[in-house]
Amino acid sequence: MNIVNALTVDVEAWYHAEIVRHRVPETERLRQVEEALAPLRHLFRRQGVRATFFFVGEILRLHPALVRALHDEGHEIAFHTMSHRPLHKMGEQAFRAEIAAFAELTGDVLGEGFSPVGFRAPTFSLNQHTNWAIRALSEAGYRYDSSIFPLRTPLYGVDRCPPVPYRLSPEDVTRDSEKSSLLWEFPLPVLPVGPLKVPLAGGFYLRLFPLSLLLWGLRRLNADGIPFTLYVHPWETYPGTPHVANLSPQDSFITYHNIDGTLLKLAGILNRFRFAPMEKALGAYLESRGEEG
Ligand SMILES: [Zn+2]
Repeated sequence: MNIVNALTVDVEAWYHAEIVRHRVPETERLRQVEEALAPLRHLFRRQGVRATFFFVGEILRLHPALVRALHDEGHEIAFHTMSHRPLHKMGEQAFRAEIAAFAELTGDVLGEGFSPVGFRAPTFSLNQHTNWAIRALSEAGYRYDSSIFPLRTPLYGVDRCPPVPYRLSPEDVTRDSEKSSLLWEFPLPVLPVGPLKVPLAGGFYLRLFPLSLLLWGLRRLNADGIPFTLYVHPWETYPGTPHVANLSPQDSFITYHNIDGTLLKLAGILNRFRFAPMEKALGAYLESRGEEG
């Protein structure tokens, strides 16, 4: 199969996840991003695959050597806000300030010639109410977004959108705006199964579903000509992730289920599909369609 899929890592700390962030006081925010990222880096090296690392700026600032090493290894460095606050909690003005802060920071760390082109909103919070982010990103030179989760869940998501990369309409984020595009959207993968829509290949869903089901679903997407994006957080594949006490059984399950088994599952997926950083996967898709990015 020749479709190039996008491999992505949201580089944030274990305490950034929306379910736990308000329960971890500043003093207990154990820093372990480098350790937590090590198993993923080892796996990517062994598989000879490169990825997009969507960095939270406040994490990037703490690990300039790590960022340079990833960049030198051919991975893409992209933007996941400075503070990991959802867009609706941040507002447009603060978001524009974070874009500028990230540009300055990456300029310091990777040199003035570097400018990020990809963005993912924390907790998939780009939706009809936060569509001001599209113009802000486009004006700052961004080329694509990967935040649209085409399934409404209690925490996030919008009801539907094209399953393939499309031009984000600033008026309606679920619609392909054709010519008046500001930014490409590379949506998260959701597989229609009869009347159901099943989210695949990322975060909790990657940890939850058996490998055989994931492979079946991802093959179906690629067979339909749909490139998918796979996403994972460093804390989801690191056995040393601290467990926050007093979560409800449901929140605890969503946050910690199968952290030990996910790396092996990821290897099973990487073995069977073609992957590249999102910028390249998007380029390959547009080229296959005879379109210009
Ligand atoms: Zn995130």
